[in-house]
Amino acid sequence: MFFVKGIRRLELSGHILPGTCPICETKSSVQLLVLQPYVHFFWIPLFPTPRRARTRCMVCGHEQLHKKLPVGTIQLFHDLKKQSRTPLWTWSGAALLAVIVPLFVQSMGEHFDEQASLLATPAVGDVWTMKLGPKWYTLYRVEEVRADSVFVRTSGREAHGGIVMLAAMQADSTVTYAGERRGYARGELQALDKQGGLYSVDR
Ligand SMILES: [Zn+2]
Repeated sequence: MFFVKGIRRLELSGHILPGTCPICETKSSVQLLVLQPYVHFFWIPLFPTPRRARTRCMVCGHEQLHKKLPVGTIQLFHDLKKQSRTPLWTWSGAALLAVIVPLFVQSMGEHFDEQASLLATPAVGDVWTMKLGPKWYTLYRVEEVRADSVFVRTSGREAHGGIVMLAAMQADSTVTYAGERRGYARGELQALDKQGGLYSVDR
């Protein structure tokens, strides 16, 4: 899978340094910049990383990175740094994840609880999506529920492929259940679920 991720740098503030550019020798053309790097994922800012200094000549564009700057310039950078704040939006991705991840976990938990309760109380008409193999599914329908067992009727329909093919099969109202009748002991159902053969229950 292709991901766009990396570091982007925001210029927070600048300050003209005394002296001349070492490359083009223009006077008062070198600016000391306070850079705010942040990690992004598909251009969504995730979180900021410590601020860095950089100098740039406004005439020839020559730049010097933090680690190459003299002690005096770094001292000036630390003073300048205090005057600017890290914009909150550089945290947007992290904030979004902090909201989305617990919701996702909660909704997955609710989904599993609901599936377990549907399976524990089978009803005539329930449609079971069965997983026959990797990306290979079929549908069964519950036609009789007894105290100790459940009987289903298989359909002739199978879906081969990903989640889109599966959803198309599940939504297809023309699926008929005229195949083989199969019986399952009630105790077998949870095992069937855990083994992964039973993919989902729809009521
Ligand atoms: Zn220059």
